[in-house]
Amino acid sequence: MSILDSQELQVALEAARQASSICRSVQSAIDEAMEKQDRSPVTVADYASQAIICKAIREVFPDDPIIAEEDSKDLRLPENQQHLERIQAEVAALGIATSSDEICQWIDYGNQQEAAPRCWTLDPIDGTKGFLRKEQFAVSLALLVNGQIEVAVLSCPNLAAGDAWDHQRGALFYAVKGQGAFVLPLDDLDAQPQTVRVSGTGNASMARMCESVESGHSDHSLSSQALEHLGITADPVRLDSQAKYGVVARGEADIYLRLPTRPGYHEKIWDHAGGVLVVEEAGGRVSDVDGKPLDFSLGSRLDENRGVVVTNGLLHDQVLAALKEVGV
Ligand code: AMP
Ligand code: MG
Repeated sequence: MSILDSQELQVALEAARQASSICRSVQSAIDEAMEKQDRSPVTVADYASQAIICKAIREVFPDDPIIAEEDSKDLRLPENQQHLERIQAEVAALGIATSSDEICQWIDYGNQQEAAPRCWTLDPIDGTKGFLRKEQFAVSLALLVNGQIEVAVLSCPNLAAGDAWDHQRGALFYAVKGQGAFVLPLDDLDAQPQTVRVSGTGNASMARMCESVESGHSDHSLSSQALEHLGITADPVRLDSQAKYGVVARGEADIYLRLPTRPGYHEKIWDHAGGVLVVEEAGGRVSDVDGKPLDFSLGSRLDENRGVVVTNGLLHDQVLAALKEVGV
């Protein structure tokens, strides 16, 4: 049986494709002259993406709760009426006619926050800052069963589709536990999927590291100390969103570090679940900075973990040791 026979995967892939198409349409309309503080595009795309994906999941799996980043409370405020109308228009452009009230209901299918034996987790737009800069962002969706990630879909609309699809942008990564990781061009889900594999770099000094653009999301100074300790001279590559998991999964980077910027911050499950399974199924390893596996069984946050370390597997222990040395 092909992994594409999984109904969960099929629904997730198609929903992520639709949501990504709205995100692209909204992102492409961002005007250079726009006020930097104006977050309307991300507001519209974020809610629209969540609405479309929650609707798709609820239709096929009515009993599955969804732990997603947004809820409709603010969107229902009178001052957000224009955003709601714009979302309605973007959804209609996909051929889905609906009321603004129904859009809010779809969004709120995603407001489960507690753990459940079987549930989905969704980041409708991960990397909102990258989205506004017209750079990297991701739509990340995963199915959790008893705290294990079983299915993951990670859409990176601005990442190169891959070697087989010259010059195309839009990589749709996916994985099913135990069945490998794959990528498709976002614009052609009928293409032949390409297998995704991490790099074979075992010599730490040759490794390429990636991290968040935002120093508020990951400590850049500690990561540069860790790189020095590992003998890595290449500068880290900075990109927003779970696209970082995608680049490690297909061997374009060997390490992704997310180092706590303050005590007490706990990572959100939707910022990781999609990416984690893609990297693991591509042969890589993911843990927190203490080497503990990420515990997705606790509801919306990784309450038992600190930071995140992603590698091609070969480098994992060396990276953990270097982090210890620099006092992470
Ligand atoms: P990135 O694009 O990798 O910078 O990550 C974006 C995500 O960082 C957002 O979706 C937020 O949920 C998350 N975030 C917000 N504050 C923090 C923080 N202090 N530490 C780590 N992640 C954060
Ligand atoms: Mg996020």
